[in-house]
Amino acid sequence: MKALICGAGIAGLTLAWHLERAGWEVELVERAPAFRDGGYMIDFYGPGHEVAERMGLRSRLLRSRYPVNELSYVDRDGRQTSRLSLTTGMEGVISLLRADLARAVAEDVRAPTTYGTTVEAAEQDTAGVSVRLTDGTTRRVDLLVGADGARSRVRDLAFGDVTPRYLGHQVAAYILADAELSRRVGTRYQMLTEPGLMAGAYALRDDRLALLFLRREPDPALPADPAADLRRHFGGRGWILPEVLARCPGPPELYHDLVTQVEMERWHRGRIVLVGDACQAVSLFAGHGASMAMAGAWVLADELSAGGDLPGALARYQGRMAPAIAEVQQFGRRFVRWMAPSNRWRIVARDLIFRLAALPGGGRLFVNSLSPGGHHLISPRRASPTPR
Ligand SMILES: Cc1cc2nc3c(=O)[nH]c(=O)nc-3n(C[C@H](O)[C@H](O)[C@H](O)COP(=O)(O)OP(=O)(O)OC[C@H]3O[C@@H](n4cnc5c(N)ncnc54)[C@H](O)[C@@H]3O)c2cc1C
Repeated sequence: MKALICGAGIAGLTLAWHLERAGWEVELVERAPAFRDGGYMIDFYGPGHEVAERMGLRSRLLRSRYPVNELSYVDRDGRQTSRLSLTTGMEGVISLLRADLARAVAEDVRAPTTYGTTVEAAEQDTAGVSVRLTDGTTRRVDLLVGADGARSRVRDLAFGDVTPRYLGHQVAAYILADAELSRRVGTRYQMLTEPGLMAGAYALRDDRLALLFLRREPDPALPADPAADLRRHFGGRGWILPEVLARCPGPPELYHDLVTQVEMERWHRGRIVLVGDACQAVSLFAGHGASMAMAGAWVLADELSAGGDLPGALARYQGRMAPAIAEVQQFGRRFVRWMAPSNRWRIVARDLIFRLAALPGGGRLFVNSLSPGGHHLISPRRASPTPR
């Protein structure tokens, strides 16, 4: 069986890893001109973590891990207003760059990846899918997979216009090289919150700093110049922001997007199927996206390699994943108001919750609240493939 996977992100690579071990002939196409490096920090836990363990990636992920000892909120002068120690209760959480997770999977994927290319057109019949790529070449495959994120091209082609649910925020992230700022921020996640705004920083290896910006914005239109937009909204807020924003890069080093969730009644049509954010984006507010993308890829591979008919396998994949995704998405929508509080009262309440969580046992409760279910997804219908 032949599969073409559009999108070499976490979901696409995880699916390729499993399908090729199940004997499929797999090929990936990726729109970016090369492997997507850098990006932003993610907390990796939950069902995807279990998938990574089964793939033998644990030691690789631990090598890429960053020790986040503390969440710390600061004011415009950089003074701490509240903190949450993360030294206990975080054993199941690996904080790392999104690209480092993708690289850990990619290192063991043999399938060829064509960069700088996407799917231009796809037509399916009962025997297969004929795909035309933007580099002018064509493919005939048994299955076309859209693993191309929340703005999926494959989804547009197979399902028409699907408008993701806008969660009323824009997000931006980039990595900056600066030894002094990196030392000052250190291995704690520092954040400044003002009504409707959140800016966060974390020190990376090699004197770098990861920066994250979140802003409430009712209008779901992205600005033409995202770096200028960040400077306008955050540049006058004190702390380290004027310095880091003076050196804010443009895209693609600057990641900038709307915060959305993707909800669809069907994740497959004939021989075309979606996986990861393309059909189930939960948003950064849910904190589970990469983990659920890996879980989705694992469940899809599990069903596809169990034998039996293709439509049945795709339907069972969605049936296993969709309830857990709905649960995580609902959690994400509830969390919006705490991650980027819309008013001062919520900021004070959030600081109070953090102080309570700092009491013995509190940290563990906090982490458990971040992890709404999903572990049952990874009970296999067959023995899982072993790493090679
Ligand atoms: C700021 C931020 C913080 C986050 N924090 C967390 C966290 O703490 N924990 C967590 O688990 N998740 C987190 N997430 C969510 C997580 O990053 C995503 O859910 C996850 O990356 C989804 O994986 P994916 O492979 O489905 O999509 P993506 O990671 O978006 O990968 C899609 C791939 O497809 C490529 N592509 C896109 N369009 C095309 C096209 N037309 N043709 C070909 N290729 C294409 C892209 O270049 C990319 O390589 C966060 C997200 C953001 C934005």
